[in-house]
Amino acid sequence: MYPRLIVDINKLRSNLDAVAAITKDQGSCSLMIVTKGLCADHEMAKMVAEHPAVDYMADSRVANIKTYADMARANGKMTTLLRIPMHAEVEDVVKYVDLSFNSELSTIRLLNEAAGRQGVKHNVLLMIDLGDLREGIFYQNEDQIFAAVEEIISMENIALYGVGVNLTCYGAIIPKNDNLSNLVAIARKIEDKFGIRLQMVSGGNSSSIYLIGKGELPEGINNLRLGESFLLGNDTAYGEKLPGTVSDTLILEAQIVELKEKPSLPIGEVGVDAFGQKPYYEDRGIIKRAIIAIGKQDTDIDSMEPLDEKIDILGGSSDHIILDVTKSDRAYQVGDVVQFVLGYGGMLKTATSPYVEKVYSK
Ligand SMILES: *Cc1c(COP(=O)(O)O)cnc(C)c1O
Repeated sequence: MYPRLIVDINKLRSNLDAVAAITKDQGSCSLMIVTKGLCADHEMAKMVAEHPAVDYMADSRVANIKTYADMARANGKMTTLLRIPMHAEVEDVVKYVDLSFNSELSTIRLLNEAAGRQGVKHNVLLMIDLGDLREGIFYQNEDQIFAAVEEIISMENIALYGVGVNLTCYGAIIPKNDNLSNLVAIARKIEDKFGIRLQMVSGGNSSSIYLIGKGELPEGINNLRLGESFLLGNDTAYGEKLPGTVSDTLILEAQIVELKEKPSLPIGEVGVDAFGQKPYYEDRGIIKRAIIAIGKQDTDIDSMEPLDEKIDILGGSSDHIILDVTKSDRAYQVGDVVQFVLGYGGMLKTATSPYVEKVYSK
């Protein structure tokens, strides 16, 4: 059935080999693989769980982690929750997650209670905000950081596993030696002040991996969390390809349901489209327009690229995408299948849509 997403597990494995070599061999970091971009796809998760270089399997959603927690643990990987937990989910967090990222004491107190009820010890990583302004205690508020640490280490069923930072997500701030050095400094201060050792100083996501190649990852950062660099081979700091990776790990296929020659400019007064936006049209004269049976409900049309480079994506609505196939060398027909490589947004939406079938090429 179409639309479908072809997932190439072998390519994903070789991307994982490549990022593992950089992170672990060159960078001396532990490797946390992030599964949310592909909605914790089961075959992908299985490959990751069985990969010897992976130390942690992480996702932003407990619902995703739940699907592979047993498999990850059976293979000696710790499951990790990246999004700050909701009060409403602490019971499941303690049950399925070995390490959760946190920034709110009220939530950590609830995790402590839930862990007590379940008779386990739960690991917590305290998030520090170095300026990207998403999650974490702001790095300049050291009193708040120390107060949080003091209370966390007094909790009976919680272990403080380390500190971490997230960058290049909300604020698009690029990780550098100087801002990441602040995280290492905070970790060392915590260790000195409280006489403890932090197991993890987690230096960010796929936007931090480039620092290893430049020899600029500060000493003391001992973990990276990699999603997009593994799934699509992207260094997300500067949008470059990581050496040894490929980007066509996933191919989206959709079928043409209408193919007609029509003008490129709509006729009549222009209002707003189905999403309330005023569209822009380029006058290309009479063109060959193909409609494929996939839309904004299933994918991000700004985050997909036709493999046939002579096709242009003109636009789309909930259930349709319109292509200009005029210049293509191939004489497309109704019923033909058009293929696309995906960016992060396209991957996320197609992997999540129940209308997109997943198949595996091995
Ligand atoms: C999504 C996420 C990651 C992975 O990000 P990529 O850019 O896909 O590598 C890492 N850490 C946190 C906290 C995240 O939310």
